Amino acid sequence: MKILIVGAGFSGAVVARELAQKGHKVSVIDSRAHIGGNCYTKRDADTNVMIHTYGPHIFHTNDDEVWDYVNSYTTFMPFENRVKTTSKGQVFSLPINLHTINQFFGKTFRPAEAADFIGEIADKTITDPQNFEEQAMSMVGRDIYEAFFEGYTRKQWGLDPKMLPASILKRLPMRFNYDDNYFMDKYQGMPKDGYTPMFDAIFDHENIDVRISTAFTEEMRDGYDHVFWSGTIDGYFGFESGRLAYRTLDFEAFRADGDFQGCAVMNYGEQDVPYTRITEHKHFSPWESHDKTVCYKEFSRAMEPDDIPYYPVRLVDDKEMLADYIARAEATTGVTFIGRLGTYRYLNMDVTIREALDAARAFLAATDAGEKPPVFSTHPM
Ligand code: UDP
Repeated sequence: MKILIVGAGFSGAVVARELAQKGHKVSVIDSRAHIGGNCYTKRDADTNVMIHTYGPHIFHTNDDEVWDYVNSYTTFMPFENRVKTTSKGQVFSLPINLHTINQFFGKTFRPAEAADFIGEIADKTITDPQNFEEQAMSMVGRDIYEAFFEGYTRKQWGLDPKMLPASILKRLPMRFNYDDNYFMDKYQGMPKDGYTPMFDAIFDHENIDVRISTAFTEEMRDGYDHVFWSGTIDGYFGFESGRLAYRTLDFEAFRADGDFQGCAVMNYGEQDVPYTRITEHKHFSPWESHDKTVCYKEFSRAMEPDDIPYYPVRLVDDKEMLADYIARAEATTGVTFIGRLGTYRYLNMDVTIREALDAARAFLAATDAGEKPPVFSTHPM
C-alpha cells in the first residue's frame, strides 16, 4: 500500500518505520523545516551546546519494548532529571521530598515524622479531589501549594487551578525520603547526540521518503491508500467546529560564560516571575564540557492560530468541541489520527511511541483482515 503520514514527530516516525518494514511505501511530510516535531534538537552555532529547541525533553519509561526501541536507533546516556524550584527567595528541591519539607518548614524531620506532619497540615476535608487545587491541598496543604504549585500552575495554564483537572498534579510524586529524581521510571536517559539523529535513523529505510517544509493539501490524498494524521484533529477538519485550546511556549534565549544555574531545569514557583522555568541546555548533556552556556526562559501563553501547539488544555468546552471532532473522525474513512495532537492528549514521549507502535500494528492487522483500520491511535476521550 501507499501511505501518507502527516507529521515527522515520534508518532509519524514510528508508524512510518513499522509500515515500511512490512513493505509498504511511506511518504512523510512535515510543514516545519525539520524532522522530530517538538523533540527536535540542534547544536547551538556559537557554543556547540545541544539545544532542546522546543523545551526540555527527558526520556523516561517503564516500557521495556519502548526502551529497546529507542536504544536500537541511537545511543542513550544515563541522565536523571533533578529539578529545582525558586520560591520565596530560596531554592528548593523537587519533586516535593524530605529535603523540601525540612527546608521549607525549618525542620529536621525523619521520614515518618514528615509524613505525620504533612498528614496534619494537608486538608483532610477533601476526600475526593475534583480539581488541581483540591488535589494539592489534600496532598500537601496550603503553604506548600501556594509556594510551589499555585503560581507555577497559573503561569503554565493561564487558569485558576480550581478549573484544572487533578490529573495534572498526579504527574508529580511526593516523597518522604531524599530521593530527588523527578521521574520514577525504570529507564531514564538522554540521547547522546540529541533527538534529531534518532529520527534520522528511524526514517532511514528504503520504503520511507521524507519531505520537510511541506504542508498537507487535499490533492495529496489522491495518490495514497491511507493517511496517518499526527497534526491537530481540529486542524484536519479546517477548524469548522472551532479551535481546541492549547498552550504554546515562547523561549527567550540568553548566553553566558560558565555555568548559569548549576542544573538543567530551575522552576519559578511564584506568579510575579513571568516565566515558568529556565532551562540550561548544557546540563542535559553532562558528559560534554562547554565553557559557555545557553539558557532558555520559558513563557507559557494561550496558543494563537499561527503558534506551535504544546499542551492541550482540555477543559469542559474543549471536550464538547472534541466530541464533535471525534464524531467527524469516526465518520471518515482512510485516516488514522495519531499522537498528542491527533488525539488531543498530554502525552509523554514514551507513551507516544507505545501508542504509535500499537497503531501501526492495529492498522496492519485490520488491513490484513479486510477490516476498517482504527480511527485513532488511542481514543481521545
Ligand atoms: N507544577 C507546578 N510546579 C512545579 C512543577 C509542576 O505547579 O514546579 C505543576 C504544573 O501545573 C505543571 C504540572 O505540575 O503543569 C506538571 O508538571 P511537569 O513537570 O510534569 O510538566 P512538563 O515538564 O510536562 O511541562
